[in-house]
Amino acid sequence: MKQLIMIKYGELTTKKGNRNAFIKLLAKNIRNILIDEDYELIFDRVRMYITGSNLDNIIDKLKLVFGIHSIVLCYEVNTNKEEIIKSVLSILENKNFNTFKVDTKRADKNFSISSMDFSKLLGGEILKKFNVKVDVHNPELLVQIEIRTEGTFIYMDEYDGSGGYPVGIQGTGLLMLSGGIDSPVAGYLALKRGVDLECLYFESPPHTSQQAKNKVITLARKLNSYSGNIKLNVVPFTKLQETIYKNVPESYVITIMRRMMYRIAQKIVKKHHLKVIINGESIGQVASQTLTSMIVINSVTNLPIIRPVACMDKLEIIDVARKIDTYDTSILPYEDCCTIFLPKHPVINPELDKCILYENSFDYETLIDECVNNIEVISLKNNLKNNLL
Ligand code: ATP
Ligand code: MG
Repeated sequence: MKQLIMIKYGELTTKKGNRNAFIKLLAKNIRNILIDEDYELIFDRVRMYITGSNLDNIIDKLKLVFGIHSIVLCYEVNTNKEEIIKSVLSILENKNFNTFKVDTKRADKNFSISSMDFSKLLGGEILKKFNVKVDVHNPELLVQIEIRTEGTFIYMDEYDGSGGYPVGIQGTGLLMLSGGIDSPVAGYLALKRGVDLECLYFESPPHTSQQAKNKVITLARKLNSYSGNIKLNVVPFTKLQETIYKNVPESYVITIMRRMMYRIAQKIVKKHHLKVIINGESIGQVASQTLTSMIVINSVTNLPIIRPVACMDKLEIIDVARKIDTYDTSILPYEDCCTIFLPKHPVINPELDKCILYENSFDYETLIDECVNNIEVISLKNNLKNNLL
């Protein structure tokens, strides 16, 4: 009896037109995530199968891959009545259960017994051999049999996949990644909808520390476990930020700073052929995230800005951060460029005219170009992972 993993595709099965593209990308993403494993993968339009030496490890990694509905540890036997029954009875010897149900799906219509009849037949054999009962509504053990032309699959252990779409099916977006709680969650939610990521981090040394940067690298690496392709762009923001603080009235510094961040992000999106900007803004959370602030800050770019956590409460965001294991890193107390020299009374309803007036008092274009030209790129790609810190 051969043991293997069967993957049931997720939401992608509803996208009939691009089904092949979805499945091929999913296979590529799985290969990327299993780079350190010894395995073989084959797939068709309905299922994907993986054989390998450490199936438990592989299952743990597959749980992070978007586009998978469920992951099933199963046994493959020949499509032959006696062999199926004998195999099931032998597998059940190692299982502890009081109630069960058999569920048969017959995709191979050459198999002469109907699904219903086969479930009854197999159920009868199980009742003969073990001291157990049938429970069709709430069985402790669900014995599933899939009779297909390529073989029959027997399984009892089915794990939930992560759902969503294969990462990259929508192209790549630029995630503004700070060390806070919100932006890693925003990145995770975008990945789940099939958007691959590049990350952008603004650092202001010496006002922000190496520890603050390391924290962002750790967060990017955690997000990379869902992608395998992530690059982190680190922008040297000190000079531009200091110039803003010298030239702009205190209440407007955050508004102007964020307009500069968007301008830089837009340039990177264009330069790297990305599609959108993604960030962790949440409506009303701070002065720069009132709707009026968002309008004024957003007006420097025509690019769509995706804000996956815009309408979530902080507690809801924290729940996700805990689930994806970014929370403990995010709450490490290192400063971000947005939190240094925080004004006492940041403007809540900024005026666009004033922003333009203040910005025209210094040569920000040159400073922005300097930022873009001096970006440090840290690649987290799986095959380069040994080159990291
Ligand atoms: P917190 O969880 O503390 O709110 P945050 O990352 O959301 O952290 P905010 O000040 O609310 O911080 O910033 C809003 C968004 O702007 C962030 O979610 C992030 O997308 C972006 N941002 C802020 N600071 C930076 C930075 N230093 N580098 C890159 N993006 C940043
Ligand atoms: Mg925030």
